[in-house]
Amino acid sequence: MELRIERLSKQYPNGVHALKDVSLTIQPGMFGLLGPNGAGKSTLMRILATLQEADSGTAHLGGVDVLCDKDAVRRTLGYLPQEFGLYPKVTAAEMLDHFAVLKGVVDARERRETVRSLLEQTNLWEARGRRLGSFSGGMRQRFGIAVALIGNPRLIIVDEPTAGLDPAERVRFLNLLSALGENAVVILSTHIVEDVSDLCTRMAIIDRGRIRLEAEPQAAVQALRGRVWRREVPREELPAFEARHPVILTTLAAGRTLVHVHGDAPPDDSFEPVEPDLKDVYFTAMRGIRLGMDGEARPEVFAPREEWEPGRELHQPPPAEAVAPAEEPEAPAEDMARRDGAPGDAA
Ligand code: ADP
Repeated sequence: MELRIERLSKQYPNGVHALKDVSLTIQPGMFGLLGPNGAGKSTLMRILATLQEADSGTAHLGGVDVLCDKDAVRRTLGYLPQEFGLYPKVTAAEMLDHFAVLKGVVDARERRETVRSLLEQTNLWEARGRRLGSFSGGMRQRFGIAVALIGNPRLIIVDEPTAGLDPAERVRFLNLLSALGENAVVILSTHIVEDVSDLCTRMAIIDRGRIRLEAEPQAAVQALRGRVWRREVPREELPAFEARHPVILTTLAAGRTLVHVHGDAPPDDSFEPVEPDLKDVYFTAMRGIRLGMDGEARPEVFAPREEWEPGRELHQPPPAEAVAPAEEPEAPAEDMARRDGAPGDAA
């Protein structure tokens, strides 16, 4: 059963275009929806979770029309929203039992089994008698997953679940999530690149309501190989440097400012090649530079660079492959060549 989203758009009454023509096809497994704050992730998640209306477009989960047949979706949906309230004085087991009743598990014995199994699965069995108010952030999130999993959902939506978790809690939570992707479509929305690289077999990058790239993380990294270059740049020289080069990433390592630049060749011999990772992919896509892959935003949907990075000084025109002009053909010959040569490209 796949989730097929076609040309979904949503504008809020205040004029914000939260989703613009979003199309995605999501197979069972872990799918990462990666984007910065305000990108439109929660809006998309809420629409898929039947909590909000879209203006136009369609979404189908197998044969079910997600936007019209809300009851059918809800029967098979597990949703962990970004924010959720819990009764602080109720124990984990009591609360889960209560939610199971609400989800229609009326047989007491079946419910007992469900509650036990979910608490074990989320590693909360030992804490079953504790009040929810005493739970840590990670325990809360795992409890939220336990609730979302009642009734064996086929569509699981988890909105920014790792924000605010400490590293150990984050790892434990992601391990829990990764076990879910075997039978269900699991959509993990996040602004943390590592959540996706550690976990997801497919991903999309969204920014300002538009999908910038839909790909397998590893294939996207592969597509970028040989086109990222690094150099140390003194902090005070950064603005001038950024004006001259297509900088995708600036990192501080041991007090040194390292800059990653995109290009088919190093700008000069002071640069060294970088083995790219998903962060490079993310910032390349966010900058509107094409990786030359299938599943990438078409050139005509790229916003002018000024719109991508408001407040950033732009002293020079963008690099050739960034922000392709509207009349450029969909797949320039150069990109085709790269695509052919990039093993493991996403379909
Ligand atoms: P994300 O989850 O990626 O942070 P959101 O979907 O929450 O993004 O928001 C996308 C855009 O829509 C943002 O500009 C946000 O300010 C705006 N937005 C979200 N919810 C509302 C709302 N209820 N009314 C008006 N604007 C909203």
